[in-house]
Amino acid sequence: MSGNSVRMQAIRDVEAYVPPAAVFTESEEPGEIFGENVFSQTVMQKRLPKSVYKSVMATIEHGAKLDPLVADAVASAMKDWALEKGATHYAHVFYPLTGLTAEKHDSFFEPTGDGTALAEFAGKTLVQGEPDASSFPNGGLRNTFEARGYTGWDVTSPAYVLENPNGNTLCIPTVFVSMTGEALDHKTPLLRSQQAMGEHAVRILKLFGHTPGAVVSFCGPEQEYFLVDRHFFLARPDLMNAGRTLFGTKPPKGQEFDDHYFGAIPERVLGFMMDTERELFKLGIPAKTRHNEVAPGQFEIAPMFERGNIAADHQQLLMTTFKSIAKKHGMECLFHEKPFQGVNGSGKHVNFSLGNSQLGSLLVPGDTPHDNAQFLVFCAAVIRAVHKYAGLLRASVASATNDHRLGANEAPPAIISIFLGDQLADVFEQIAKGPATSSKGKGSMVIGVDTLPVLPTDPGDRNRTSPFAFTGNRFEFRAPGSMQTVSGPMVTINTIMADSLDYIATKLEADVAAGTDFDEAVQALLTEIITEHGAVVFNGDGYADAWPVEAEKRGLANLKTTLDALPELITPEALELFEKYHVFNHREMHSRYEIGLEQYALTIGVEARTTLEMGTTIVLPAAVRHQTEIALNIGALKGAGVEADIAPLTEVSAPIAELRSALAALKSALAEEVGHSALAEAEHAQKSLLPAMNAVRAAADSLEEIIADDLWPLPTYQELLFVL
Ligand code: ADP
Ligand code: MG
Repeated sequence: MSGNSVRMQAIRDVEAYVPPAAVFTESEEPGEIFGENVFSQTVMQKRLPKSVYKSVMATIEHGAKLDPLVADAVASAMKDWALEKGATHYAHVFYPLTGLTAEKHDSFFEPTGDGTALAEFAGKTLVQGEPDASSFPNGGLRNTFEARGYTGWDVTSPAYVLENPNGNTLCIPTVFVSMTGEALDHKTPLLRSQQAMGEHAVRILKLFGHTPGAVVSFCGPEQEYFLVDRHFFLARPDLMNAGRTLFGTKPPKGQEFDDHYFGAIPERVLGFMMDTERELFKLGIPAKTRHNEVAPGQFEIAPMFERGNIAADHQQLLMTTFKSIAKKHGMECLFHEKPFQGVNGSGKHVNFSLGNSQLGSLLVPGDTPHDNAQFLVFCAAVIRAVHKYAGLLRASVASATNDHRLGANEAPPAIISIFLGDQLADVFEQIAKGPATSSKGKGSMVIGVDTLPVLPTDPGDRNRTSPFAFTGNRFEFRAPGSMQTVSGPMVTINTIMADSLDYIATKLEADVAAGTDFDEAVQALLTEIITEHGAVVFNGDGYADAWPVEAEKRGLANLKTTLDALPELITPEALELFEKYHVFNHREMHSRYEIGLEQYALTIGVEARTTLEMGTTIVLPAAVRHQTEIALNIGALKGAGVEADIAPLTEVSAPIAELRSALAALKSALAEEVGHSALAEAEHAQKSLLPAMNAVRAAADSLEEIIADDLWPLPTYQELLFVL
């Protein structure tokens, strides 16, 4: 009977599965297909009249407004290009606050009076769309009578053609705003924050004698993910509904290298990786996949860094591509931060720098003293920003799913601190002592244009436990979760940087106007910043038990859960900050807070209901069958006059009783009357549902350890993690 369980069938199907062959055709070089499906600058240059091209480039590079006539010309060229690429539809792609990607598809072909169809696509259609906003979270920004939302093309992010067996689609990356212009998405604030940050960075560069073009933020997201066989995935309602296992005991030790259970692990994953790389290349996403050894079944991909808003679009596209290509290879790609309890989780490191094509990254220490002073100023801006607004950074990565990761001994702690590396930390320690001339290493430490030593760019100097680490030419924010869009963290980093850079520029400009020597002004400013904000610099082990104690002494917050972190979004300082830099108005901030709470309660609600259902309909029946078998066995033995040990019956009956009562408790927790506010629901999820779910899991997991293998209905951790 038991051999017919979903799990047993899945095991047989996995054994019989033949993965598709890898796809790079022999004649094809990766370089040839790169950007093939992108309406890139090169394509525009070829297809647009010179004046139109120039005008678009002015918009892309300097943020000039897009002229409607230019938009018409671009639309027409884009349509012709897309039709040649086999597109039948176009879609405004936007990024609502669900964290997913949404698309509104329309056909290019409009029926004409004579019964034929004409491919129409005007500038107006290119730059603006009108999807119904009512099904997307808005946190109170939208009244029911104004259900409409507007999408608008982000000219700086190129359009592309997405291939699909049922027809190709021209995709246009867009912002998504309400009728009143308030942001309903992730892209709008990202563009606003980038602009604010760039503006003040330019002021500082001018003080250092540059005449810089627009400064932007760069983002290089490292994405971790798990792959599991789809047969097993489909036999796990928890993975399907919640993206993580809500049941499951750790596999026995020593299984880490068990690669002969079903064999051929590397080829299958390799085929998937080559296939995804090919698709990403076509879309102009500069990605190199690689193996990640941390957990079994876990891998990582790190696309080359790009301008923040483009990196964010590409990151979303990458996740969708991974999901669909994994399916093609008989696997499911899991982006959840913690799919498996007790197994390393997944993050998305957000590598951040600022600069432009002319100056490169402004976070490169450089090898001339002049650049060093400038570098130290930008570095000090980061230190001040992270110290002053650590709570906002923490809130930017807060989610029910990331709560399983932050603060566990595998991801950065929830305490936000900065790692500078020994040498840079030493430089700042000296700066803290004032314009002293203590000389260490190669030169004097006065921040004089002539006297500053060459700073090291040593990417080998690493600390894996820090949430915000300097890594040679950038800072790496390691707290973002694998499922998150990078936009949230990038918006926060840009905005708090705008604040720091504004502060610094204002001070230095005033000093220079007052006749203070520039070098002295810079020195004094750096000393002030490191004295006031140096507490956030921590080069030690973030996993050590001593750190939370030390952090508390330093006055650094330890916001452990999402509900501890979200209120940071609506403190008076936060509201003022985001409003000052025109990133969010107060209403928008409150809406983000509300949506954070809603999403939290929704996530845990789904998990709780799935736990209840699986516990009741899958785990409990299996346990009862096992119990019955033992009972029958005891009965049979007794009947045969053999002495029967009833201990095995007691052993299984106790956790069954626990499971029953835990399920009853979860059921009543789910039925509890909760106030209607988002906060009440979120608190209920945290205080009632989570513990009730954990109790169910504890009982079920102890049953998994004793129930006969052929009766156990759910694919085990061993199968999920080691079989590919
Ligand atoms: P790691 O040693 O952390 O694995 P990688 O060399 O793989 O580092 O780079 C990780 C990510 O950092 C990549 O996406 C890379 O493009 C990005 N990155 C490198 N330099 C910069 C920079 N100046 N600004 C932003 N991101 C960067
Ligand atoms: Mg890294």
